[in-house]
Formats: sequence, C-alpha cells, structure tokens
Amino acid sequence: MKTRQVSCYNCHSDRSRLYDTENGFNLVKCLDCGLLYVNPRPLDQEIDQASQTGEHRGDTRLNTTGSFSEPSVDKYLTILRAFYPVPPDKSDLSWLDIGAGHGEFLQAIQQFLGPGLSATGLEPNANKRASAARRGLEIDYFDLDEHEKSYDFVSLLNVFSHLPDPVDALTRWKRLVKVGGELLLETGDSAGLERHDHHRPYYLPDHLSFASEEIVVGILERVGFRVLDIRKYRSPAYPVLTPLNLFRQLVKLVRPDRQASFRFFPKHANTDMWIRAQRIA
Ligand SMILES: [Zn+2]
Repeated sequence: MKTRQVSCYNCHSDRSRLYDTENGFNLVKCLDCGLLYVNPRPLDQEIDQASQTGEHRGDTRLNTTGSFSEPSVDKYLTILRAFYPVPPDKSDLSWLDIGAGHGEFLQAIQQFLGPGLSATGLEPNANKRASAARRGLEIDYFDLDEHEKSYDFVSLLNVFSHLPDPVDALTRWKRLVKVGGELLLETGDSAGLERHDHHRPYYLPDHLSFASEEIVVGILERVGFRVLDIRKYRSPAYPVLTPLNLFRQLVKLVRPDRQASFRFFPKHANTDMWIRAQRIA
C-alpha cells in the first residue's frame, strides 16, 4: 500500500515521536500539541475507498462493517436526554447525521424528537446502508461538498478519528449547519494518555488520529463554533464487569472477526467525549 508523510493537522508541526505501532502503521505523538496521528498514512484515495467498503489494509485485513447495535440506540437516547433535558420544540427540525453507520443514531433521534423531525443519514459504507434499509431506515450517500442544504442539527459521531484532516473537513462542512444551529460531535479524548493507559487495539489505519478535549475544542472555536456543553462517557473499549459482559467477551475470544476486551477496570474509563457546539459565524 502506498503511504505518505504528513504533518500534524492541528498545529502543522512536523516534530513528533513514535507512540506505538499496530498493523504495520506508526502512531506518532505531536511534540507541539500532543495529537496522536498515523504517520505515514495511506493515500487519501485509499482512505476514501476503505470508508466505502469497510476493508482496511495493513499487515492484517480489518473489516469494520459490524452490525446494527440495539444497545447503542438506548445509549444514544440517554445521551440525547442529558444534552437536551427539554427537547428542541421546533415543528420542522432538520438533522443530518454524517457517518450514520447502521442507523442507530438516526433511530434514536427519530424516537427522541418525534414525527416533526426530518432526518437525513449519510453513510459511505454500502453494507451498512443496506443493513439500515432492512430496518426501514433510509440512509444515503452523497458528496457533502456539493450538498446545498443546511440543517438545524448536524451530528458527527465516531467520524473525527477516521478523517485524514478533521480541520479541513469541519471547515468545509460548517456551512451544512445553519447559523445558530448545532453540531453534535463525538470522538475519543485519549491523546493525553500514557501509552500503557490507552485503549487497544487502535484499529489503525481505520482510525487515523486520536485527539483530546483541548484539541477538539480549539479546532471547533477556530472553525466558527461555540462549545455549549461537553459530556464524557465510558468508552465502549471498556465493558462494565457483569456476568453477561464477561460471557460476551468470552464468546468474542472464539470469533476471529471480533476483538474481546477484558479491561474492566481501566485507569481512564470515560474517554468517550461528546461535544455540543453552536455555529456562530
Ligand atoms: Zn500538533
């Protein structure tokens, strides 16, 4: 696979040190801002193709398509209720979910906001779109750069880490959010962790970077958003120790396509970061 050297997308520094390696890729730490990023990384064309197929090449092939997760819908509903104790009561709300996956979040916002909501899901992976369609959820794939519409809400869940340059993407996609409208962004808050405390596997090169609260807030403010609220939840990499979860992880041990995790008591569990931000300019 062809790769290329890149500098830090957050601060443009070229100064970095090796943080860890996985699947034939180096994860480096920016010496100036602390961002963790894959360097050298696959060419943009390769990244684009992998996002459409879910197939990521490396020492081993990684398929990240997965399947619809009912518990995710419940988790999303809990988070939506925490962020919006009083649900927005506009009668014709529009919401765009970028990276809609199998449609779990789309289902959660439809349940949360009711029939007045006009929800659009965008997902590059054709297998995930088909899986959503089987559940009656309509998810499309279109070119965001040519998309004319703007929305009251745009969500970007578990997308940030997959983007080659999130600063560039957020700058281009900002116009999809109406002025005064909101962005709901979810990503990991793990760049500040020591290597032995970081969750593994990293899933390189599906994940291309790991940021922190400071880095993501800084980017959002530079791009033209005001941060309204930040909440952190237990990372899915760390299951809560219950008999059922223990059983589930044991089942994963014998499935080559699943990665079991027995890290029930990590030092830093709440690295699943959610940020609610408003477009101000
Ligand atoms: Zn940097």
